[in-house]
Order: sequence, then C-alpha cells, then structure tokens
Amino acid sequence: MRADTIAVRSGRGDFEALGVHAPPIDLSTTYPFQDLDAATDSYDAMAAGGMPRGSSIYARLHNPTVARFEQALAAMEGAEEAVAFASGMAATTAVLLESRNRGNHVVAVRPLYGGTDELLRSGLLGLEVTFTTADQVHQALRPDTALVIVETPGNPTLELVDIAAVVAQAGEIPVMVDSTFATPVLQNPLRQGATFAMHSATKFLGGHGDVIAGVVATSGDWAARLRQIRVITGALLHPLAGYLLHRGLQTLPVRVRAAQANAEVIAHRLLQHPAVLAVQYPGMLGCDPEQLLGRQMSGPGTVVAFRVRGGCQAAQSVLRRLALVTRAVSLGSVDTLIEHPVGLTHRLVDPGALAEVGVTPDLLRLSVGLEDPEDILADLGQALDAVVASDSPGLVAV
Ligand SMILES: *Cc1c(COP(=O)(O)O)cnc(C)c1O
Repeated sequence: MRADTIAVRSGRGDFEALGVHAPPIDLSTTYPFQDLDAATDSYDAMAAGGMPRGSSIYARLHNPTVARFEQALAAMEGAEEAVAFASGMAATTAVLLESRNRGNHVVAVRPLYGGTDELLRSGLLGLEVTFTTADQVHQALRPDTALVIVETPGNPTLELVDIAAVVAQAGEIPVMVDSTFATPVLQNPLRQGATFAMHSATKFLGGHGDVIAGVVATSGDWAARLRQIRVITGALLHPLAGYLLHRGLQTLPVRVRAAQANAEVIAHRLLQHPAVLAVQYPGMLGCDPEQLLGRQMSGPGTVVAFRVRGGCQAAQSVLRRLALVTRAVSLGSVDTLIEHPVGLTHRLVDPGALAEVGVTPDLLRLSVGLEDPEDILADLGQALDAVVASDSPGLVAV
C-alpha cells in the first residue's frame, strides 16, 4: 500500500471482527481474568516488553486503543513497531533511560528542541552529554557512548541534518532522530539507517492542538525495551489521546501537503518584504546546501522561520500587531501559530549556544496552518509594514 492508503487504513485490522467502523475507546484500568495461569502468562510477556497473550491485565501494561495508534504510526514510518508515551519529552526520556543500560554518555547535535536541550543539560538522568555539530559526531564519540541524538529539520532554525551521514559516523551506536517537524509524511528516519524515529505527537500527528503525546518508531527488539521502560516508569498515553491521534493520522498526509503549499507561498512572499532580513525555510535558495530535499525529506514542510529587521524589539512588535495569526508556542496545528524562540521555547538554552546555531533575537517561528495563505500574508504584511513605517524600529511602541 502507498503512504496515503496506509494513513487511512492502518491499525484497523480488527474492526471487521469487532463489527465497528471507528475504534472503540477502551478506558479500563484493569482487565478481569478467569484463568490465573493464563493471566500470569500474559503478565510475564508484557513485563518483558512483549504484547499481551490474551488479557491486558492492567492498563499500564497495555491498552488496545493506544496499540492501534502505535500500529498505524509504525506502518507510516516503515517501522516494525512503535511505542507511545504521555508526551514527546516522555518519549525522549524513555530512549535516554534505555541507553543507560549500555553506557553513560550521549552525543547530541544542536540545535535541538529547547526542552530536549534542557533535559540533556540537567544531568537528571545521570548521563554525560557532549553537544556537537552534525559533522563532528564521530569526534565526540567515547567508548561509553550509548546514543546519538539529532533533530531534523532543526528547531527553530529549520536547518536540515543529513541523517545517513550521522548514522555512518555513529557506527554501531544507535541514532535517535527527532522527526517532529518532518512528520512521517515527509521523512522516514529509519530508512536512512536511524534506530529510533521520535515524534512529539502533540504537533502534527494530533494536528488540532488538543492532544499531548509522544511516540517512537523502531524495530521490534528496541520497542520491547522501550515498552519495559514505559511499564516501569508509567509515562503512558491515555486511551482518549490514542484515539485522537489514530484519527489524526488519517488526515495527516492531506494536512501536511496543504499546509506545506501555504508555507511555500508565505516563505517566498515574506522574503520580499522590506522589514524581513532573512527567511529560513528548507525550500528556499541556499537553505539546503547538502541537497537533502528530495533525498531525505520529500518536501520542505510547513514551518518557516524569519528574521525581522530591527532586532528583538522589532520582532516582538510584529508579534503584538498580529490580528489573525495565533501567538502561541507549539506547531503543526490546523491554525497558523507564531512564536519568538529566544523569548519562549528556547529561553532556557544558553544564549551563547543559541547564537552559535543561528537562533537570533530577531527570529520568529511561524507554523503555517490551513487558512487561506493570502489572509495569513495580509496579517503578517500589516504587522511588518508597521516596523518599516517606524523611524526607529527598535523602539516601536504598541
Ligand atoms: C514539542 C516538541 C518536543 C516535545 O514534545 P512534547 O509533546 O511537548 O513533550 C520535542 N521535540 C520537538 C521538535 C518539539 O517540537
């Protein structure tokens, strides 16, 4: 089956037998058993990271509604299995905790999502971290390195990282790719040799700004280890969230393509505005030096970053003047969202490290939604015009 068919049809193999058209939402916390031996057998299977043999026993071990979403996401990523978590951060935490079985050191390529950066720096998980660039991964490896983490496209600069090149440098060490910005529609990291494709499902997979979730697509063996961690730590996905995500996947390809078409129009027109210093978008001239579009990622995506002339205050003034675009962090929703990375999502990241990877105070991150792009452009245009009109853009008072 092709990608769009997989999105609509996957994780629904038991519907005919159940006689349903929409997945049942199973809210049971416990599952009554009749035969103790059979229940023990099933419990043992799940404690080892496997699937239930019959009864789910207890909802921290397994939930059928969540499992259907996992099956569908795995199919979309071309993975054997997927494991869903309470949030994107819980998913990353599980991968990091699992890596502690194999070593105490992680190599992380910046820029990363602000929360991931903070988690790694916090020392909370007892891991030592070397932050580096995509071309220096090999040099950063140590005998006790257990994991390499990269994010592509990067947040918030939209820089692309060559996954296959990082995998080659990592050798035997597993690579986790945070593929949130790409979605399984535009990029499948496992096909490039990565071991884990991680998503903050809060973003595009849910797609309507009403679910917090995370998911990791990987092989059956790795998935079993992650499920074991999930059973022990309890960072579960709620069945209602699993239901909403499973539904979200059905329209994901259509939503991503439509928002991407809007983003392409907006990115090119933004560049022509005199108040815009630069636009960072994988589709733009000069933004993809390694030519990964078409090779690793089938389209430029839906998130556009741009720099406003006049620095931090000018960028903030643009934000304040917007009337239609939603001022909010997060991304991948049906509505267009805008935020100021230095002021919000990347606030806790070391300013020196931010400057090094091009996260400047004048940068705004726009997650383009499904509105008519002309309406978005009109709103951005009036806000940017005000910056141009001001003699000293750094001092615009609103
Ligand atoms: C939002 C986000 C995360 C964290 O996900 P949560 O669901 O908020 O925990 C991780 N990586 C990227 C790229 C994100 O955008």
